This record gives sequence, C-alpha cells and structure tokens, in this order.
Amino acid sequence: MGKLHIGIAGAGLAGRTLAWRLLRAGCRVSLFDALQRGDERTASMTAAAMLSPLAELAVSDDAVFALGQRSMQLWPKWIAELAEGGGPPVYFREAGTLVVAHAQDQTSLEHFSRLLHHKLPEASRAQVHTLDAAALGRMEPTLAGRFGGGLFLDGEGQLANDQWMASLALEIDRLGGQLHEEAAVEHIEPHRIVTAGGSYSVDVAVDARGVGSKAEWPSGNPLRGVRGEVLRVECAGVTLQRPVRLMHPRYQLYVAPRPNQQFVVGATELESEDAGPVTVRSVLELASALHSLHPAFGEARVLRMSAALRPALDDHRPTVELRDGVWHINGLYRHGYLCAPALVDNLAHKLLGKDND
Ligand SMILES: Cc1cc2nc3c(=O)[nH]c(=O)nc-3n(C[C@H](O)[C@H](O)[C@H](O)COP(=O)(O)OP(=O)(O)OC[C@H]3O[C@@H](n4cnc5c(N)ncnc54)[C@H](O)[C@@H]3O)c2cc1C
Repeated sequence: MGKLHIGIAGAGLAGRTLAWRLLRAGCRVSLFDALQRGDERTASMTAAAMLSPLAELAVSDDAVFALGQRSMQLWPKWIAELAEGGGPPVYFREAGTLVVAHAQDQTSLEHFSRLLHHKLPEASRAQVHTLDAAALGRMEPTLAGRFGGGLFLDGEGQLANDQWMASLALEIDRLGGQLHEEAAVEHIEPHRIVTAGGSYSVDVAVDARGVGSKAEWPSGNPLRGVRGEVLRVECAGVTLQRPVRLMHPRYQLYVAPRPNQQFVVGATELESEDAGPVTVRSVLELASALHSLHPAFGEARVLRMSAALRPALDDHRPTVELRDGVWHINGLYRHGYLCAPALVDNLAHKLLGKDND
C-alpha cells in the first residue's frame, strides 16, 4: 500500500505545522499557499508569538487554556525535533511574563489580577506571583524604579514566529513534502484540491487557509477576520528577559523581546477585515505606550510595521472539524501560537487514525 497522501490548503502556522508532523509520521504531503513561503502579510508571520496561557485566560476560556497548557508541554519537544533536521535554530524562551501598570492605571491591573484569580483553575493559581517594586526590579532590572509592582506569570513563553515558519518550510522540503507557493486554492473537495495551475487528487484534504477560507464557513458559524497591528523595533538601550504586558484602560500593550535587541510591540485588535497597512493612530498608540514603558525606547528604530487578520469564530475558540468530507483547522484567532501544537497534534492523530493521547 502507498503512503497516505494528504493535501493541505494554506501554509500558515496551522497548515505548515501539520504538514511537518504528517511528514514525520510517514505521510506524503502536498501543501498549497497563495503566497510565497516568506511572505510577511499573514497572521502567522505578523504575530508576536507569545505563549501566554495565563494572561490570555483573561480574554478567553477554559478550552483555550487547556489547549495552551498542553501546547506548552509540546513546544520545547517540537522545537528540539525540528532542530534534528539540521535547520536554523528557533528562538524559544519560557521565562514567564511580567504584567505592569502605571500608577494611574492600577485599577486595570487589579481588575486583570482578579479576573485571572476567578478564571484560573485552583492548581494553576500558584503560577501567578504578585511582585513589589523591589522584586520587579530584581527580575527585570531595566524596569527597576519605574513601577510600584506587578504580576509575574510563571511558565509562560514566547518564540520567534518568523524563525519557526522558515525552519518548518526547510524541513518540509528536506522530508520530501511538496510546498506549492503562489498556488491559490480555488476549490477543495474530499479527495481533490484545485488551484489555477492544476487539480491534485489526494487521499485526504485539509483546509487551513485562515481567513482565506471564509466562504467555506456556514452562516450559523461564520469565520471572520480580526485586524491586528504590530511594530517591530530595534533598541540598543533596553534589555528585557521576558515579555512585558502594560495594562491600560484603552489598549493593552505588550513588548516581546527577540534576538539582536529587537522587540515586537503589539497589538491592536480591531473588528475590521481591512488588512491594509498600519494606521497612524495605531502607530501613535503603540509607540507612546512603548515609550511610557521605558524612555530609552524613544530612540528605538522602527524596523517593520505590520497588519494582518486573525481568523476568528464567534466563540473565539480554535476548531478542528470534518465537514462534508474536508477537514478544517481554523479559528486560531489571537491564540494560534499558544494552541497550535495541541490542535495540530489532535488533527494529526485523527488523520492517522490514532486515538488522541
Ligand atoms: C498582530 C497579531 C499578533 C498576534 N499575536 C499572537 C501571539 O502573541 N500569540 C499567539 O498565540 N497568537 C498570536 N496571533 C494569532 C496567530 O498569529 C494566528 O492565530 C495564527 O497565525 C493563525 O494561523 P493560520 O495558519 O490559521 O492562519 P494564517 O496565518 O492566516 O495562514 C493562512 C495561510 O493560508 C493562505 N491562504 C489564504 N487563502 C488561500 C488560498 N485561497 N489558497 C491557498 N492559500 C491561501 C495564506 O496565504 C496563509 O499563508 C497574533 C496575530 C496577529 C495578527
């Protein structure tokens, strides 16, 4: 018997990670994307890729929390497995998250802390530590003296999404997967994927096109795009060991450190399907909040400003489902990196006919 041939539409985080897992499991995989592999316009290439099961619980629910907790166990293992292929390393840290607020915004921080306490399962509450100013300064010397205290969320992490996506593409090539670039999928059937360039028969078809598969979603459970914008800056004068979230009544800023003194600063969240360039208003909001975190950020160089659409369902939960013979992995919303390993693992087990363990 030949290898199981799986066709995947969409080579974003979901499609690309799934393709890699299936190749490792011995499948034949054909992957199709409308863009080139390094195109930065997708959600997957725009994200800050913070892995924040605790902080995100404030705006999500226990389903996302459970996927996030499981993914936090899988990420280090999967990053090590990806490195076995000999590709470039992927920056990954599990140094927790700091949450701070300026004196005038303390009520936002207090509210966040109460919300976490109510929503977190009892067993996870010990991961939230309240810090006074001295403890905060010891943990993140750059911020010493700037805040009266904060929260430390233990066990959270982050990775460099651009490195993850680039390394995956190389590994898919190495393992013999077919990654068709600039191959927009026009139609998906249970055993067929159709692009302008050809019609490909497969054993199983998976739709992982993010917002690109909006038309495939029923009116009772619509998929929509939620606009998000981030800045990437380089700043020689500031060193952070971990992501920092700044609570604010209007917008919540996060700053996620990356290698080479770079930082991803985000993110706006707008109910809009406009994926056009970042607006002046958003730059002003993000940049002033960044500057308020530490004045040295005033000299930061802006390397990139990006906007993309997060694929979201109304319940804001990611989903893996079989509909009319086609598998769908979608609705990753603002938790794609947080949940991807658990979700992809679930889907891979279903496709391979194994129980989810
Ligand atoms: C500003 C911002 C910040 C974020 N920060 C975080 C974070 O800190 N932590 C976190 O966990 N998540 C974060 N996210 C969310 C995360 O990025 C997404 O949940 C995730 O990337 C979605 O991945 P996806 O593969 O489902 O979709 P996408 O990234 O949208 O990928 C879909 C792919 O399908 C392709 N495609 C579309 N139409 C077609 C077609 N017709 N034919 C072929 N290919 C097609 C696209 O080109 C794309 O490559 C953030 C998102 C944004 C926008």
